[in-house]
Amino acid sequence: MARYSGSVCRQCRRENQKLFLKGDRCFTEKCSFERRGYPPGQHGQGRIKFSEYGLQLREKQKIKRIYGVLESQFRGMFEKADREKGITGNTLLSMLERRLDNVVYRSGFANSRAEARQLVRHGHFSVNGKTVDIPSFQVGKGDFVEVREGSRSVNKISFALEAVKRREIPQWLELDSAQFKSRVRDLPARDDVTMPMEERMVVELYSK
Ligand code: SF4
Repeated sequence: MARYSGSVCRQCRRENQKLFLKGDRCFTEKCSFERRGYPPGQHGQGRIKFSEYGLQLREKQKIKRIYGVLESQFRGMFEKADREKGITGNTLLSMLERRLDNVVYRSGFANSRAEARQLVRHGHFSVNGKTVDIPSFQVGKGDFVEVREGSRSVNKISFALEAVKRREIPQWLELDSAQFKSRVRDLPARDDVTMPMEERMVVELYSK
C-alpha cells in the first residue's frame, strides 16, 4: 500500500501547524517547525492565499496526516460516518480516535501514531484477550487494549510508558501501566479531540 515516504516534519510545515508526528522530538528544540515555521519550498516564506476549496483541502490533508490515514481509507470512513445518525464531522473524528493505533498511542504505549501502527502490525497488542494486528480496528466502549505478555519488554513500549508521565491520557481511556492495559471508559466525544481541527470543512469538501 502506498504510504508517504518523504520528510515527516515537512508535513507539519506544509500544514502550518505542529502535528506531533515524531514523538518526543516534537517537544524539543530539534522540532523543525519550531526552527522553520513556514511552508517548505521556494515560495514558502511568501504570502499564500487559499481559496475556500484550498482551505478545505488543506484541512482534510491535515487531519489525514495527524492520524496517518490514506485517502481511500479516509473517504471510506467519511462515507460510513455520513450514513450514521448524528453530526457527520463528530462521528468521523470519533471513528478516527477509536482506531486501535490511535488508542495505543493515546494510552501511552507508543510515542507517536506511526510507532503505534507499527507495534500493532507486529502483533504486540490484544483487544479483550485476542491479538489484533489491524491498526484500523475500531475499539468499543468497555474494551480492554493490552500489551501481550511476550511483548512487555519491547523497548519502544517501555520507553513510551516511561514518557507517559509527561503526556495527558484522555478521559475516555483509563491506563493501568503496571498491568500494561488500557480500558476504553467511554466513546470519545468531540471535546476529547484536543488538536485544532475543523472537521466541518472536510464535510463541506466531500459534500460538493
Ligand atoms: Fe512536526 Fe514533530 Fe517534526 Fe516538529 S518534530 S515538525 S511537531 S513532526
